[in-house]
Amino acid sequence: MDLADTPEEREFRARLREWLAKVLPTLPRKPSPDDWPGRRAYDLGWQRMLYDAGYAGLHWPVDAGGQGATPTQHLIFLEETEKAGAPYVGANFVGLLHAGPTIAAEGTAEQRARWLPPILRGEEVWCQGFSEPDAGSDLAALRTRACRDGDHYVVSGSKIWTSHAEVADWCELLVRTDPEAPKHRGITWLALPMDTPGITVRPLKTLAGSAEFAEVFLDEVRVPVSGRVGDENDGWRVTMVTLSFERGTAFVGEVVACRRVLGELARTARKNGRWDDPALRRRLGRLNAEFRALWRLTQWNVSEAERTGGVPGVGGSVFKLRYSHARQELYDTTAEVLGPDALDLDRPWVLDRLSSLSYTIAAGTSQIQRNIVAERILGLPKGR
Ligand SMILES: Cc1cc2nc3c(=O)[nH]c(=O)nc-3n(C[C@H](O)[C@H](O)[C@H](O)COP(=O)(O)OP(=O)(O)OC[C@H]3O[C@@H](n4cnc5c(N)ncnc54)[C@H](O)[C@@H]3O)c2cc1C
Repeated sequence: MDLADTPEEREFRARLREWLAKVLPTLPRKPSPDDWPGRRAYDLGWQRMLYDAGYAGLHWPVDAGGQGATPTQHLIFLEETEKAGAPYVGANFVGLLHAGPTIAAEGTAEQRARWLPPILRGEEVWCQGFSEPDAGSDLAALRTRACRDGDHYVVSGSKIWTSHAEVADWCELLVRTDPEAPKHRGITWLALPMDTPGITVRPLKTLAGSAEFAEVFLDEVRVPVSGRVGDENDGWRVTMVTLSFERGTAFVGEVVACRRVLGELARTARKNGRWDDPALRRRLGRLNAEFRALWRLTQWNVSEAERTGGVPGVGGSVFKLRYSHARQELYDTTAEVLGPDALDLDRPWVLDRLSSLSYTIAAGTSQIQRNIVAERILGLPKGR
């Protein structure tokens, strides 16, 4: 991949900048972090603006409703939207970043036509029902049971840590369809409409005070068989596709945001006298190098995914592992720069610092990413 813009890319960038300068001042006020219906409306409103301007699903394949843009155009889009302070995917990160791409890669033509356009138009929000109380890192241990009854599955069990479940229309749900089969072979990937009778959503509060995820209880919930993506009992393979999008490309927009925060941090340190501390300057310099390297790794992962049919490879685990730790270091450094103000929840960066703690857990813990890197990239023997 050539890292300098071609004339076409320069033009794409300039048109995008111009559009952003025109539309961003027209956005409504951002809702408060705890106003989930307000956040849903705000995020979907922005998605609709992207759709109307031809920027929704920029890098999705054309036959999945996307624009079929090149990886470089996609990265230019991420860079420019972040630099301009535009909203990011928000409440529908599951739909836009991994459920949608999974359906694009694995769904039938009918399923693509049903689910992808409403995601791109900002009409439907998805959540992810993978983890269970006894199935997190060992996801294949999941026990939520689905029994076939005619053209429906009857699903009972419970999910946990389901982000944005309260405002979701659909859930990418993993269920056990064959309890006798070895654990990886009896799983099925279903699209569950969240308004089906028998679903109870119980919000969970985080240490930052917001209820961004929930427990989801399923009591004989009837899910149409037409909502199954992939074959019955072939859900583990489809899950690997979902997780490769979640780890490989879902965080890429955030790297640009972290680079912006780093610049702001250096400016704040210059103003409040902390810049005189050589240890802090060294740390900021190292983080700068780290995020530049992560951006290059992002470029490589995105172009590699496009080259190999659109699904990111195992390199996503390397990125996710390093990115989540770098993000924590960055936000720990904000506390050094802010001093006692780092205890004030209304200050910029303070809530982000608290939420950065979750990055080494969500989408698979660091230990699990290390296991994957050891076994699947370095070829080391499987741990016991
Ligand atoms: C902010 C956030 C949002 C989330 N959103 C969602 C969501 O929307 N949908 C969803 O389904 N899930 C979601 N999750 C759940 C997330 O996927 C799990 O928390 C994660 O996979 C870890 O599972 P666990 O919490 O059960 O921890 P456990 O699996 O119980 O792990 C506990 C500890 O043991 C370690 N460990 C476990 N097994 C091994 C091993 N084999 N080798 C080495 N160490 C090991 C882990 O690394 C960890 O440190 C979210 C989590 C967070 C933090």
